[in-house]
Amino acid sequence: MKRRDFVKTVGIGALAGGALAACSKKEGAGTAVMSGGKKVEWKMVTTWPKNFPGLGTGANTLAEAINQMSGGRMEVKVYGANELVPALEVFDAVSSGTAEMGHGAAYYWKGKSEAAQFFAAVPFGLNAQEMNGWLYHGGGMELWNEVYAPFGLIPAAAGNTGVQMGGWFNKQINSIADLKGLKMRIPGLGGEVLKRAGGTPVNLPGGELYTSLQSGAIDATEWVGPYNDLAFGFYKVAKYYYYPGWHEPGTTLEAIINKKAYEALPKDLQSIVMNACKVANQDMLAEYTTRNNDALQTLVHEHKVSLRQFPDDVLKKLRKLSDEVVAEVGAKDALSKRVFDSFVKYRDQASAWHEISEVSYYRARKL
Ligand code: CA
Repeated sequence: MKRRDFVKTVGIGALAGGALAACSKKEGAGTAVMSGGKKVEWKMVTTWPKNFPGLGTGANTLAEAINQMSGGRMEVKVYGANELVPALEVFDAVSSGTAEMGHGAAYYWKGKSEAAQFFAAVPFGLNAQEMNGWLYHGGGMELWNEVYAPFGLIPAAAGNTGVQMGGWFNKQINSIADLKGLKMRIPGLGGEVLKRAGGTPVNLPGGELYTSLQSGAIDATEWVGPYNDLAFGFYKVAKYYYYPGWHEPGTTLEAIINKKAYEALPKDLQSIVMNACKVANQDMLAEYTTRNNDALQTLVHEHKVSLRQFPDDVLKKLRKLSDEVVAEVGAKDALSKRVFDSFVKYRDQASAWHEISEVSYYRARKL
């Protein structure tokens, strides 16, 4: 299903889904014989379970794009979390050259560099469109390269979930006091914000969320959005589905590439790898946009989920706490400060422009 979607979306060819991998291999062998060159074989380790909808399949999309665009001169094999290395060892595995490439999210690597978090998701930060604007044309990529350079890594944006949902709760959130004592699965900077609001953030892998919510081990959880949340069945164990996902307004997924392996490629394959990342980046957002639309209808109309918006007063307080948390990250070291300054300047300008473009258009469309 996903492979067929990819072929359709990217328009590489009319190959049927199942035959894709086999065909690439066959073409690769043919090309190698014709040119006398040796096929480049890369391993891509990922922080997702193999084929996990949206995220894991996004890694597959990236590998398939490289395999196909290179006419089989290159073959990237995707490994799910724990197949070659555990999820949170992806960064080190690519840095050391155990794998040539990785797929994950930069906020997992804050232990390597605090500044990494700006390249995934920032509470009340940039949405998907703005992240891409900042990265590709606003100086963001240059900074990201600088942050990863000491680790021998080249980063690339390789997917985006769009605005996420606020999460699943079993009680209403009517004031910031309702977050006090709340045990919620919410990772990263959003979790730190919840902590300052009096809650207890916990980080659990996706596969444990349903049973944790069911058993009462946690009171609430965020995950991604309607598409992934419907698949996990959270509507069976939580009453209220809150929006918006203030903590993850447009999470960028990343590809990381071992610098030595990249530099060993001929120029055209280098270009294919980087442009395949752009294809995968766009394709994931398009997929999430479409599948979230569909899944939201199912959740609301079929499963009668109670959809609720966080009250403005709650959001204002979360925004204030978020600004504190994010500014602290920006004050950790000189490079984090430069990334923070660039990010905040871009957000301010994008807010001004999007107020009169996107926001105004959404309003006009509803009139
Ligand atoms: Ca999330």
